[in-house]
Order: sequence, then structure tokens, then C-alpha cells
Amino acid sequence: MRAAVVRDFNEDLSIETVADPACPENGVVLEVASCGVCRSDYHGWTGGHPKVQNGSILGHEYCGTVVEAGAHAQHKVGDRLIAPFILGCGSCLACHTGASNTCANQIVPGFGAPGAYAEYVAVPFDHNLVHLPETLSPALAAGLGCRVTTAWHALTDRADVKAGEWVAIHGTGGIGLSALLLAKMLGAQVVVVDIVEEKLTHAKQHGADATVNAATTDTAEAIREITGGGAQVSIEALGIEVTTNASVDCLAILGRHVQVGMPAGSGMMEINMRAIYSKQLAFFGTRGMPSWKYPSLLGMIERGEVDISPMVAREIPLSGASAELRAMRGPTPPGTAVITDFRH
Ligand SMILES: [Zn+2]
Ligand SMILES: [Zn+2]
Repeated sequence: MRAAVVRDFNEDLSIETVADPACPENGVVLEVASCGVCRSDYHGWTGGHPKVQNGSILGHEYCGTVVEAGAHAQHKVGDRLIAPFILGCGSCLACHTGASNTCANQIVPGFGAPGAYAEYVAVPFDHNLVHLPETLSPALAAGLGCRVTTAWHALTDRADVKAGEWVAIHGTGGIGLSALLLAKMLGAQVVVVDIVEEKLTHAKQHGADATVNAATTDTAEAIREITGGGAQVSIEALGIEVTTNASVDCLAILGRHVQVGMPAGSGMMEINMRAIYSKQLAFFGTRGMPSWKYPSLLGMIERGEVDISPMVAREIPLSGASAELRAMRGPTPPGTAVITDFRH
């Protein structure tokens, strides 16, 4: 099959013909219909992810059609499926208690197993996969594996956002944009923060009640003023110290911070603990979404209660992925890129 392979960090992915994946006993092989290009891929491509090395195939936001099914697979040849990026084993305590996104035996294609920057991808633990609704295009579905689901879980499970509350969103990449669309659907008021004016304008067009340009403004102070004393919920969607502190500082008393951005490097940060202490804040971590929550999210998308189409800015060929990764070195335009052509 044709695949984009990591050879040297920070260099173009190598388009190669590699062996087709073997079908797992407990899973399927998908012919990939689409795969999102995510900032997590960028971290891998630059050498900042321990599970990405010479020979790795990136790609954790995919959907496709089953072309081969293992003896113990839950799905059959011809099924069109979406995968959450975290594949829980289904048999440990975390999986049994509904938290498969924390499974210790989890497999993540693209990070430690070959991913979907390829014509085919092997997917073990296929009980995690769900059917792709007819009304949802593969390009839109790609973002559901990672960014939309992560934002959904952060807002509903971790922060427990209620209608009328103020939600601050720091960073308007894939996660931030999905969090905006979903928080608006939940009836929240949303203030969005970024340093790219074009992204703030885009966020306004898609429902943001207010925007703050962190390059020119004291973010926390601006948000406290806009919200009349601070946001009830704040989503950090970048994984860096300055935005994590802005998030903590912009919250109202008893506010809830959700760390959605993956902390880069060692993960160590200097955080304003006095703000957490004195405002009696809650500080949540979150990663992914357990797959049993898919029906609730897909139902709302199918019924038209939320439109996630602003997520996809560009459909690209496999050979275009390197340029997208390179572009993430600097500020990027609104929306995300999805690979939908694996022959070019
Ligand atoms: Zn992702
Ligand atoms: Zn498990």
C-alpha cells in the first residue's frame, strides 16, 4: 500500500510502498477514506513524541470501510466506521467502568502502531468503532476521532457546562473550534482567545460571543471584564504555560479549568497555585472520549443541532500532509486539513 512514512524529523514525510497491514484477530483492516492532520502529528513529526520514530506512520483521526475482519471482530467487511483515537481493550477495570479513554492497554494507531496516513490501517479492539452516519462525509467524520470528541468530553463530562455559563477557550485550533461550536450548542456564552486575528474573526462568524487577541491584550483581565467577574469554565487547548495561567487567571470563583492541550516537552509548568487556592478552582485533565459516548454526539450532528463543517478548511492528498505539518511551525489559518486522496 501507499503510505507517508516518517524518516527524518522535520523533513518531508517519505511517500513509500509498504506492506499491507495484517488483520488483527480482534479487529479489522480499514481502507482509509479520510485522515485528519492534527497538531499531535506535528509533535511527532518534530521528534517531540516518544512513540514516533524513523519508520512510523502517523494518522490517528480516520474513518474508512472494513476490507478484512478478524475471527473475533465485532464488525464485518463493507462496514463504514469511525474510530476514536484511543482504542480501549474492553476488558480492564477502566474499560468496564466506562473510562476506556484511560485504558492502560490502549492502542493508538499513529502513536506506537502504524496510523492512517496510508491506504489501509489495522484497527484492533474494533468494539471501539462506530458506524459512520450516511449524512456525514468522511472528511467531516475524520475530526470526530480526535478533536470533536475530545472537546465534547471536556465540556460535558469534565467541566459539566451548563446553559448560560461563560466558557473561555484558549486557542482556536481543531480542539478550540470544536469546543466553541459544541459549547454554543449547549447554550453557553463563549469567549475565544487566539493571537491570529483571522481566527478570531472566523470564531465570531461561528458563534463566539466575544474574542480576545492575546498578542495585544492582557487575556485574563479582558475575559474578567467581558464576563463580569470571570468565566465559569475555561478550556486550555494549546498545552503551554502562558495559556494555562491565563486560563486559571480568567476564571470566576469556583471556576473549572480543563487542560485539553497536551503539555509539550517534559510537561513541567509554573502555575499560579494561589489563584487556584484562593478562587477555590477545580483543575481537570482530560484526553479523548470513551467510545460509548459516540451515539450522543453523532445523534446531535445528524439531527442538525450542531454544524461541525467549519472544522474542515481543506481536503488534501497524502502527498500534501508534509506541507500542513510544516505550516504548524507558525500561526496557522482557521480550520483543519483532512487527507481524502491516498493515491496522490
Ligand atoms: Zn488529533
Ligand atoms: Zn481496557
